[in-house]
Amino acid sequence: MMKEEEEHVEFWKKMLVFSQQGIIPQIFDDCEIVKSELEDIRSKVHTLMEETNQGANHDISRMFLIAYKAEYFLLHPAFEKLFAFAGFTKLVTPSPEFMYENHIKDFITGLNTFGKDSLETELLGKTLERLWLDSRYIAQQSMLDPLTGIFNRRGFFDIIKPLYYLAERNNFSVAIIMVDIDNFKILNDKHGHQAGDKAQKEIAEILSSAKRESDILGRYGGEEFILYLSSIEHDSLLEIAERIRHQIEKTTTSIPMTVSIGGASGVMTDNLESELQDLIHQADTCLYQSKENGKNRVTCKSPQ
Ligand code: GH3
Ligand code: MG
Ligand code: MG
Repeated sequence: MMKEEEEHVEFWKKMLVFSQQGIIPQIFDDCEIVKSELEDIRSKVHTLMEETNQGANHDISRMFLIAYKAEYFLLHPAFEKLFAFAGFTKLVTPSPEFMYENHIKDFITGLNTFGKDSLETELLGKTLERLWLDSRYIAQQSMLDPLTGIFNRRGFFDIIKPLYYLAERNNFSVAIIMVDIDNFKILNDKHGHQAGDKAQKEIAEILSSAKRESDILGRYGGEEFILYLSSIEHDSLLEIAERIRHQIEKTTTSIPMTVSIGGASGVMTDNLESELQDLIHQADTCLYQSKENGKNRVTCKSPQ
């Protein structure tokens, strides 16, 4: 437990340094509200600490009650978002998402194990477990596509937002790749919608394994997928897109499928939102060209 606490302190110290250096971008839409809620939590935790230090004769269930109160604050969605961001960008190791998840789980296990003697503590353990599972479930549902299990459009844009701010700060080139299944309507008509759904899942799985760990994959809509590639050499975009196309052609054997791909790369400068939309538009235009030129092919556009 002690080691874990030290890791937490290290984590927040590093995050503080990063934010002072301006490395952490704006990751909250309503940051003033989040800030005031976190301030409120900070003062409550402070009061809690004083309470703990004052009472030398707390029994175990009272101590758990105090700890429960502190842990409860950690369920604020801002922490989840911050940990997820730090995890994706690999700003700190070990993976903070993993630390966060394990920390809450360990605490719940502690409550459920040691709180057995007191009905109240046991009940708190069970309640926290339910709240934790529910909040994870809701967070995931709002971000993921139920059919393929990859990010839905909203989840995709939520996750990549901090990444392109980071790309701008570090002067990285980034790229968007759009993937559209060829003749999918015919597949649906010929084999039925269930087979069509299965085919979508298969494509999502192939794309997941073909992409780099740091790239973000989402379902853009219908039978169209989108990839965000962070930190990429312009010259390698075509090669990466071609590798993806080939992988799909080679791997989908039960019902053979092909995809058309459009890709665009660029450097983020100052007008990030519109530059990103521009990259998506360019990738989409390239995708359209791939379709026009006979499908099952790749078209890419990069700055000279
Ligand atoms: P193209 O090669 O030009 O892309 O032709 P296409 O037939 O793939 O494209 P079109 O846009 O004409 O049709 C796409 C079809 O994909 C229409 C829609 O019914 C189907 N579709 C979209 N999402 C799903 C899904 O989740 N499951 C299934 N089974 N079908 C889907
Ligand atoms: Mg299609
Ligand atoms: Mg389409």
